[in-house]
Amino acid sequence: MPLPEAFDYAEPEGMGLELGDQVAAPLGPRLLRGVVVGLRDAVGGNRPLKPLDALLEEPRLPPGTVEFIQWAARYSVDWPGSPLAIALRGARAPKPRPTRVTELTGVAPGRTTPARTKVLEAAADGTLSPPDLARAAGVSAGVVKGLIDEGVLAVRMVEAKAHFAAPDPGRAGSVLNPSQAAAADSVKAMLAEGGFSVALLDGVTGSGKTEVYLEAAAAVLAADPAAQVLILLPEIALTQAVISRVAERFGAEPGEWHSDVAPPARRRVWEAVASGNCRIVVGARSALFLPFPHLKLIVVDEEHDASFKQEEGFIYHARDLAVARGKIEDAGVILASATPSLETLRNAEQGRYRWLRLSTRHGVAQMPDIELVDLRESPPDHGRWLSAPLVKAMGETFARGEQTLLFLNRRGYAPLVLCKACGERMTSPETDSWLVEHRYSGRLVCHLTGFSMPKPKACPHCGAHDSLVSIGPGVERVEEEAKSLFPQARVAVFSSDTAFDAREGRRLIEAMADGQIDILVATQAAAKGHNFPNLTLVGVVDADLGLRGGDLRAAERTYQLLAQATGRAGRKDRPGRAMLQTWAPEHAVMQALQAQDRDAFVAAEMAERELAGLPPFGRLAAVIASGPDAHQLEAFMQTMAQAAPNTTGVAIYGPADAPLGLIRGRRRKRFLVRADRTVDLSAYMATWRARVKPPAAIRVAIDIDPYSFL
Ligand SMILES: [Zn+2]
Repeated sequence: MPLPEAFDYAEPEGMGLELGDQVAAPLGPRLLRGVVVGLRDAVGGNRPLKPLDALLEEPRLPPGTVEFIQWAARYSVDWPGSPLAIALRGARAPKPRPTRVTELTGVAPGRTTPARTKVLEAAADGTLSPPDLARAAGVSAGVVKGLIDEGVLAVRMVEAKAHFAAPDPGRAGSVLNPSQAAAADSVKAMLAEGGFSVALLDGVTGSGKTEVYLEAAAAVLAADPAAQVLILLPEIALTQAVISRVAERFGAEPGEWHSDVAPPARRRVWEAVASGNCRIVVGARSALFLPFPHLKLIVVDEEHDASFKQEEGFIYHARDLAVARGKIEDAGVILASATPSLETLRNAEQGRYRWLRLSTRHGVAQMPDIELVDLRESPPDHGRWLSAPLVKAMGETFARGEQTLLFLNRRGYAPLVLCKACGERMTSPETDSWLVEHRYSGRLVCHLTGFSMPKPKACPHCGAHDSLVSIGPGVERVEEEAKSLFPQARVAVFSSDTAFDAREGRRLIEAMADGQIDILVATQAAAKGHNFPNLTLVGVVDADLGLRGGDLRAAERTYQLLAQATGRAGRKDRPGRAMLQTWAPEHAVMQALQAQDRDAFVAAEMAERELAGLPPFGRLAAVIASGPDAHQLEAFMQTMAQAAPNTTGVAIYGPADAPLGLIRGRRRKRFLVRADRTVDLSAYMATWRARVKPPAAIRVAIDIDPYSFL
């Protein structure tokens, strides 16, 4: 509930409450689920308290989890109920349905056949349903049914097990190269000291960071039989690969946690984490809110990734919160990346984080050659997006039977559709954003609101027929071009539209790894952490795209994305090649990329940020207010501006129209707040918010450390 603080209730006689208990609490006419966040003796209090209704038979949240939820709410300047709701997501999911198992009764079969013998062997451990038993024995369902009818087998309903097999840290791990071994020793020494500490595991793509953090996890699990480990990943599509690695290393499946996990399975993980039975969890950012009683290590893989920032609902950055949770739990934290964020690099430079650099690529692979293709010199033909040098390289790669990844961070077919008769741009109704053409579905789609419509035959503005033209490329359009250039090649698209769930994403990744695809056209989803052994050419269709974003991290994000994308080329024994199409080859980001000189890029970017007092040298927060009425919103923003607390070291910019000034019929305005590092920005924002009372129609959201400036 959006309440500023916890409510007081009386504990009925004999309930025996403890911190973290889940209870049924009356609120007005309703009974709601609540969590006990504090207990005190209130005998002699001057107002009667409502008694709690019941203690729920649900796992108790451990003290560290309760403290973390309250800390996160304060830090994010949100209601405690917001992070608590995330923490209880698993507890509110339906329990797994009971399953049927087939067991031996001890009755001997009247006659014996080879098929029956196979069934009886497969039924020995009593865990399979009748159809699964038939499948396992390789016989028809009739054989199993016959044995059930005869009373040789019996079917029983059992509660689905929440049990996870114990990981075995003693199993042999990968053979580490000297660089990996040194990093693993260093991080293990850090973790052996115990208590809160953070390490940055910094190594180029392919240097084998996963092996290093799995060894660290093994050490933690071996040192303490109750210890739990959490591995956070930015993309659901990456989880399966890491789950396989964990299962192989420790001989036991880890718990899997993300939005694609079915609710009953989520419930199973949640309960097993709370009981301490599930000792390794691999998951997306919300796994950070699971009720670990013995969390000893948190790994944030690809820590620089912007997907760790949750932008809607409860706004938080999972990497920052992981460090906070590590501190609360007295646990170790490993941040891993090939292109660490400037915030993390700054902490490493200052000695707050232990900095472990992996110098060489794993195995014998070399870094790819990076070429800048100057589009001013070799522009693609009209209506085409691939330049002659890139097409030539693709042809050579295909002829050698190797793979190409074309990278363009733009979903759909064309980012803009306009009428060549009247110039009207097709925009989303009640929103400022352009409609993106999707050829697969034949629709125009708003990526912001999800609105979509069939592509009209006539211009809705002037009525001209066949006047709508597609401007600019999306991945679907580049796929079309690649197919027309290389009709024999197998071409596929990977984006959140084609890989619409984790399974489909995994299928595409596996097909690419298997060599079933010659040319993969992909958005950033494929630029992360996958191993494609036969990939030797990466073409970046529009390397300038990120630089035009106009936000604080545009250059950093472009650098990270391009370094990850080009790092995909040339694994194992084949040299790779990366080609970046750009209109601005002289730009510092492009130069640093070509020279593969991360330190030069970071130094230049740090100097600019320091001069402007921007993160990591200062702190930012955004206030986004929205409402249906422009005048009311403007008046409220003026009131809010006047209510801002006057504090040294804080500057407020705005109110200004948000770049996306209109979403779903609501006008949007924003403030940007810059503060010195010494200012408690969360406390400042909370004070400010408490001073104003927005009208009912106006929503106010506070974003600490904003990543999106829209
Ligand atoms: Zn028109």
